[in-house]
Amino acid sequence: MASLNRVVVVGGTHGNEKTGVQLIHRLQNNPQELTRESFTAQTLLANEAAIARNCRYLEQDLNRCFTDELLSEAAANKEQALAQAINRQFGPKGPDSKTEWMIDLHTTTANMGITLVVQQHDPIALDMAHYVQQKLPEAVIFYENNTSAADPFLCSVARHGFLIEVGPIPQGLLRWEIFEQTRQALSHSLDFIERLDAGEIDLESPREAEVFQFVEKLHLPRNTAGEISGMVHPDLQDKDYHQLKPGEPLFILDTGQTIPFDGPEPVHVAFVNEAAYYDQAYGLSIMRKRSLSWKH
Ligand SMILES: [Zn+2]
Repeated sequence: MASLNRVVVVGGTHGNEKTGVQLIHRLQNNPQELTRESFTAQTLLANEAAIARNCRYLEQDLNRCFTDELLSEAAANKEQALAQAINRQFGPKGPDSKTEWMIDLHTTTANMGITLVVQQHDPIALDMAHYVQQKLPEAVIFYENNTSAADPFLCSVARHGFLIEVGPIPQGLLRWEIFEQTRQALSHSLDFIERLDAGEIDLESPREAEVFQFVEKLHLPRNTAGEISGMVHPDLQDKDYHQLKPGEPLFILDTGQTIPFDGPEPVHVAFVNEAAYYDQAYGLSIMRKRSLSWKH
């Protein structure tokens, strides 16, 4: 058991999301904040080259490089090589990973408040999200039902991955309230592990929570040359987690013409006008709001 990492807290997976990087620095300087009765968490600044350049990534989004496929084939770029190095140090990804928990700190430019992301149907990670939400009732749970093999996130290297995403904040800068919300969500996450270790978390009763489940990303309007030719409609800007009904304004072309949502049924929206989406000309994500039940 000596080689098992109980908990690793990660910042700088995206090099221009400074909140997580700054919080890692604070924690490294104040290790008592990483310590609970039953463990002391380790820290990782994941993409130091991107942090130094204040960019999201150098060649490929590091948080898309942790599928089984990309971890097993020859690395095609700097981030794929970095992902494989992180997997050697903290994995190997899968049930025998030497890291039990990995908590990855992110920010978004969208008006999403505190979002707790669980990428696989992992009851213990869902319990953590549920626990943090009870402490921070404004927090929202994002749920995806990925297989481990297809989960591209860095935190999937651990047996239990958890991602804290806070916004709105522009890329490349710090704001106290975002920093503080991130710190609180992380602190409650660490408390959850301590309480789990102490046998204080009920693992018998089935649980239920309202979650947002990812459906798909929608492209911004583009012209025949593939160039962006419009933007998020002002009526939709900052309306993360709101419902969007068929026929309601979605985008607005450069000319001022409104493009309505033409989906077959109402959806919910998130990552509305997320700056990191522009490299692939996406404008937002649509989500399905649902009740999720789970048991151990
Ligand atoms: Zn990020």
